[in-house]
Amino acid sequence: MQSNIDQLWLIFCIGLVFLMQPGFLAFESGLTRAKNSVNVAIKNLTDFSISFALFWLVGYTLMFGTTNAGLIGGTLAELFSPLSDEQLISFMFQAMFCGTAATIVSGAVAERMNFRGYIIVTIVISIAIYPVFGHWVWNGAGSDGAQGWLAERGFIDFAGTTVVHGTGAWVALAAIIILGPRLGRFNKDGTHNPISGNNLPLSMVGVLLLWIGWMGFNGGSAGGFTADVPKILLNTFLGGAAGFITTLIVSWKILKYPHGGVLMNGALAGLVSVTASCNVISAGEAVIIGAIGGMVMLAVDRLLLRLGLDDVVGVVGAHGGAGIWGTIAVALFAESSALQTGLAFEEQLLIQVVGVLVNFIWGFGVAYLILRLINGFLPLRIAFEDEVVGLNVAAHHAPNEIQSLVDVLDLQARSKNFDLRVPVDPYTEAGQISKRYNKILDLLQEALLTSDAANKAKSEFLANMSHEIRTPMNAIMGLSDLLKASDLNAQDKNYVNLINKSGGKLLTLVNGILDLSRVESGNLTLKLQAVNLHELVDDIGQSLAYGAFKKGVLLRVRYAPTLPDWFVADTAGIQKILTNLLGNAIKFTSRGYVMIDVDGAVSERVASITFRVRDSGIGISKEACATIFDQFTQADASATRQYEGTGLGLAITKAQVELMGGEIGVTSEVGVGSEFTVSLALPLHQADVLPPPDLSHFSVLSVSRDEVDQANIRELIEYHHAIYAGVDASQNAIAQLCGSAGERLNPNCIMIDADTADEGWEKAIADIKHVAGANVSFIVLSSDIHAPDFADNSACPYHAWIRKPLVSTLLLKALSSLCQEAVGDNGHNSDSATGKAVYDFNLDILVVDDDKVNRIVARSLLEKMGCRIDTATNGKEAVQKVAERKYDIIFMDCMMPEMSGYEATGKIREMEEGAGDGKHRTVIAMTASSMVGDRARCLASGMDDFIAKPVSINSLAEILKQYQRCSGA
Ligand code: ADP
Repeated sequence: MQSNIDQLWLIFCIGLVFLMQPGFLAFESGLTRAKNSVNVAIKNLTDFSISFALFWLVGYTLMFGTTNAGLIGGTLAELFSPLSDEQLISFMFQAMFCGTAATIVSGAVAERMNFRGYIIVTIVISIAIYPVFGHWVWNGAGSDGAQGWLAERGFIDFAGTTVVHGTGAWVALAAIIILGPRLGRFNKDGTHNPISGNNLPLSMVGVLLLWIGWMGFNGGSAGGFTADVPKILLNTFLGGAAGFITTLIVSWKILKYPHGGVLMNGALAGLVSVTASCNVISAGEAVIIGAIGGMVMLAVDRLLLRLGLDDVVGVVGAHGGAGIWGTIAVALFAESSALQTGLAFEEQLLIQVVGVLVNFIWGFGVAYLILRLINGFLPLRIAFEDEVVGLNVAAHHAPNEIQSLVDVLDLQARSKNFDLRVPVDPYTEAGQISKRYNKILDLLQEALLTSDAANKAKSEFLANMSHEIRTPMNAIMGLSDLLKASDLNAQDKNYVNLINKSGGKLLTLVNGILDLSRVESGNLTLKLQAVNLHELVDDIGQSLAYGAFKKGVLLRVRYAPTLPDWFVADTAGIQKILTNLLGNAIKFTSRGYVMIDVDGAVSERVASITFRVRDSGIGISKEACATIFDQFTQADASATRQYEGTGLGLAITKAQVELMGGEIGVTSEVGVGSEFTVSLALPLHQADVLPPPDLSHFSVLSVSRDEVDQANIRELIEYHHAIYAGVDASQNAIAQLCGSAGERLNPNCIMIDADTADEGWEKAIADIKHVAGANVSFIVLSSDIHAPDFADNSACPYHAWIRKPLVSTLLLKALSSLCQEAVGDNGHNSDSATGKAVYDFNLDILVVDDDKVNRIVARSLLEKMGCRIDTATNGKEAVQKVAERKYDIIFMDCMMPEMSGYEATGKIREMEEGAGDGKHRTVIAMTASSMVGDRARCLASGMDDFIAKPVSINSLAEILKQYQRCSGA
């Protein structure tokens, strides 16, 4: 019969051991990540409650009931009868132990085991693994009537190093093998990533609470307030302290800093190790056992990492590894007389080893089998998403403020919604961070708004500027178009041509600026239309010829005669690409040549066209070639750079080429020259294509020293079945003409290259004419833009003056006309000799524009094309006129005083609806606004089409043709 003091001591120890529960709770939840800490804490509370209840229900009887062959306790009567009063204190003390064994598991499996699985593990430990092994070791232990089969054989585990800690650790090991490691813990190459706990100080408090609990654990195991209690307590303290200190030294040595997690487990390992023997060892031995226990823990931890096993709080090392050591240490250190087992040293050592082995096999084996079986139909691991989100939220709907902050940040990153703000709890650290984060977001948003406004202002400015420049440009381009078509002498014609071309250049510049803003806003769009690529390339060559001529650079254009002329393409886009590449080539070349060579392969409906722009200029280094297509990048950005430019052209060009689905590249050598290549796939345009002129039986003698030109001319002439002969000087031409009858060429036409004629083209013609007779015609090729007038120079008549670079379309036309062939203008009704367009549209047209010059331009152009014109100065007047008279087409400006074009079109459409006769008037916007969206706005207001100012005869002709049929004219 125990004395009251003994009972009091045991009850006190029960309280102390119970403190191990908050100890484990704090230790484990502090060492796990914040997103799982609540879950770990809840599991601790749960396992204690369940294990206590189950230990009361059945566990205690299985452990301490009458033995059945030393294997399991409890008779049927014992199982169904309540605990006696004498048993109550013992039961409660043992129930705390069972709870401890169960709770040890939770730290190891934290962060990825589901709640259901954890409850299953607790049940398996509390009603099977723990009480059965406990029966083997502790049933009747320390008395002559030892009943458990290990106890009977002298196995000693004073306060549960193996029974409690070993059992908990091996069950944990089985669980972590089945569960697998946490996401991101190990890498494929076998290395591991540290995952830090969220609250180390809390864990430290936990360890101290455990330490206090250990006083009850070991102190109570004396069975009462015996004389051994002070020694037990001292040894317990010393074991813990020694474990701590050795791990401190080793960790410092290996890691170079005291690692919090390692130190805490060092203390726990020391405490675990001395628990088996603290009643029978000296203080010095306690220190040694505790110290070695700490090191065993470190070794097991390392082994687990090597094996890729993820033990979150280090349970297996501190409780399992140190437990094995502590249990074997009983035989090594304790006097056999103190143990009272009657065994020799070797026998004691053997039974201790057998004990820990049995504990491992039983604890690990049973747990592994049961959990693997259960895992097959009730998975123990949480879902991937839950692991990412964390178990606090996924399992318990318990977010913490850090988690809320992280969630909002994640959401924000995914949705790119910067209006979101993080919830602020002013009394937490996360709340302070959130508050400042929100403040920074406010500032960023303000800055974004300002920059958006600045961007918008820039776009508006660009649109307005372009609008303002385009309006006067309309007059320049339109009127010079008209003048070009009038009867002017050659000199004036050239001047007008120059004005027209310069206007075109200015327009290109304005468009370039607009393009840049479109590229920046991703609004560059394609406008596909039928285009005569051959003429387009020739025109580009012509427009840049003067610049090259002035620099003394030879500009050459080759358009492979095998290629068709007509394609469906974005004319303006191609024009910009080639103009920019050729412009650059001329700019960066000071001698030699620049050439554009257009070639390609044609399949049934599509041609793969390659444009090559070659020059003999300064060249580009290899490194610069890699960056020149970037915005604002120049190959030589030094201050001493002699060439003007912004570094934008190639960036816009590349964007344009890519928009067309093509590719652009460059090869270059410094000091030798460059070649830019653009490859595009263009659909063929089949309609209205005239067969190529047939020059059979026609013979041409070309006089030029330029071998490349000669080769191009030969290619062109022979492709069209004419006879070609080339000589390099007029004397050689004369010699050809004077040969004996069989050798004589008798050409129908002689082409003279004025640039390479030694004594001038007039002398050459005069000399040759003298021999050739009156029937031969002359064509002069010259880089000089000032073509002398035929009438003023009757001494040297020539049939055609063709400017270099050789415009093959014009040369072909001149040869055809000489060949008495009627050559059309490839679908356009034109006069091939003068190049003047002649149209007869016979349409009634209303031109609505507030700008007088624009009205004059439109009227002149349209009258020239055979239309009858009426005008209105604003939308209101236009609506009145439309009400009174029938027009085939109404050209409507958009921005006008009194009533805009949009509003006027709306009124016209209302009028049509009111009339109910189903008649539709064709309204076409004619406006200088050409930003993306302008066209859509015009169509939305009821207009039928859109033509951008400045307008040309050709663009007007295209649109009149299209709507002529609709108007029934
Ligand atoms: P910009 O000509 O306005 O400077 P680009 O974007 O058109 O801008 O060209 C970028 C740079 O690439 C040029 O500044 C020049 O250094 C280099 N570059 C382009 N074309 C040539 C060329 N044909 N020969 C030599 N360098 C060239």
